[in-house]
Amino acid sequence: MSFARVGVVTGANKGIGYATVRQLALQYPKSPFNSGPLLIYLTARDAKRGESAMTSLAADPALRQAKALQSDGGLTSIQFHSLDIASSSSIATFAQHLADAHPDGIDFVINNAGIAMDGFDLNVVKTTLACNYYGTLEATRAFLPLLKKSDGGRLVNVASSAGQLNRYSRAIQKRFQSAKSVDDITALMEEFTAAVERGTEKADGWPSAAYATSKAGEIGATLQIADELKRQHNSKLLVNACCPGWVATDMTKGKGYRTPDEGAETPVMLAIGDIAGKSGRFWRDEREISW
Ligand code: NDP
Repeated sequence: MSFARVGVVTGANKGIGYATVRQLALQYPKSPFNSGPLLIYLTARDAKRGESAMTSLAADPALRQAKALQSDGGLTSIQFHSLDIASSSSIATFAQHLADAHPDGIDFVINNAGIAMDGFDLNVVKTTLACNYYGTLEATRAFLPLLKKSDGGRLVNVASSAGQLNRYSRAIQKRFQSAKSVDDITALMEEFTAAVERGTEKADGWPSAAYATSKAGEIGATLQIADELKRQHNSKLLVNACCPGWVATDMTKGKGYRTPDEGAETPVMLAIGDIAGKSGRFWRDEREISW
């Protein structure tokens, strides 16, 4: 079967990522992005958990009722592929698969995978940054060249309002805001790690918070990548960061006032909705907000 559109969701075996795949299948037929059959790659780092998500989606009552899936005569097919964003070889293997299977390119990537660990120490900081900052960045770099350039390919990084800048000293806020490249943002992540190692992060103007800082870095790097693309004339790729809101998932231990489906709304809009060609913005509640 050939597909008019191809998309990827990372960390999609549960939580917001799973709901994002589901909402994409439900909303795609009426979206301005619809130009024929859609293939979504549901990716997960653990094959068993990924396959079990595939089984749930195949039996999902809302998808069945809407005849959303190709197996029911609908537009969307879902395929599982393993992807661990904390592993360079896993990212490279999946990127190669996409390049081989879709030589005309893919249409969107939603980098949703992320972790939030309990506690605060150097190990928590390094592990959290390795996944949320460095892993998301590496996945972004690997998938960006695969996006259809002439046709408004989209990349969406699911960050968090926890990454907003109001929790840093004014000096650090300024450095985030005046960054000129991804390297400038990476330098800030390295400085934060070094400050935690010395035990001086508070005195140096950082919060003692690994997750929040990783998400500030994720937003900063996403905006820098969008700027890089704007500097390349004729790039029609749209690259945005977003917060899904506070969502009841395993990450929030079931707290949170939104359902995963509600949390999926902004990432889904940024991938297949009408966003008036906007790129390099930070979004929540389906609208732009300030970083
Ligand atoms: P969950 O913990 O429910 O799900 C996280 C998903 O990411 C899981 O599928 C998990 O896989 C996957 N994952 C973790 N590490 C990796 C990795 N190295 N490679 C691939 N997949 C990985 O969290 P949520 O659904 O709540 O969060 C989804 C995204 O939304 C995250 O980026 C989070 O930071 C962000 N977010 C969430 C908020 C909330 O209120 N829930 C608020 C703001 C942002 P596995 O099952 O194998 O662990």
